[in-house]
Amino acid sequence: MDNCIFCKIIKRDIPSYKVYEDEIVYAFLDITQVTKGHTLIIPKEHVTDIFEINDTLAGQVFARVPKIARAIEKAFPDIQGLNIVNNNRELAYQSVFHSHIHLIPRFSVEDDFDITFGNNMEKYNQTMMNEIAGKISAEV
Ligand code: 5GP
Ligand code: ZN
Repeated sequence: MDNCIFCKIIKRDIPSYKVYEDEIVYAFLDITQVTKGHTLIIPKEHVTDIFEINDTLAGQVFARVPKIARAIEKAFPDIQGLNIVNNNRELAYQSVFHSHIHLIPRFSVEDDFDITFGNNMEKYNQTMMNEIAGKISAEV
């Protein structure tokens, strides 16, 4: 797709530090290197986000994640963990609108990375939880 930075990376119009490539995906180092080895996995086909990707392509892309994760682990034996992040749409911090999966190796609590979840269960009762689950499950 024209004007997509990641499509340009796949086509080598923009240079990148390649980690892995096959017919389905391209994986390369994120330019910000939140932590050492921070890698992005992207489908070669331009897809905006999780709402647009089809089941087959999603399966193919996600199936490649463990292989790259294990490669990062082997490359950096001091790794202590790995966060897998997939941002979808602007509010959810997506800034490049070509679907991608972040692999963020974790080395210590000092890493410049934080992901925290609030707990808002005091706002929900059992009825509301059943209603929410029912609404979603009716659409699957
Ligand atoms: P998002 O915020 O959409 O989840 O993640 C987009 C990521 O793409 C960011 O972490 C950003 O650093 C990375 N990025 C943006 N432009 C480039 C680029 O030209 N090259 C590389 N390697 N990464 C990029
Ligand atoms: Zn693209």
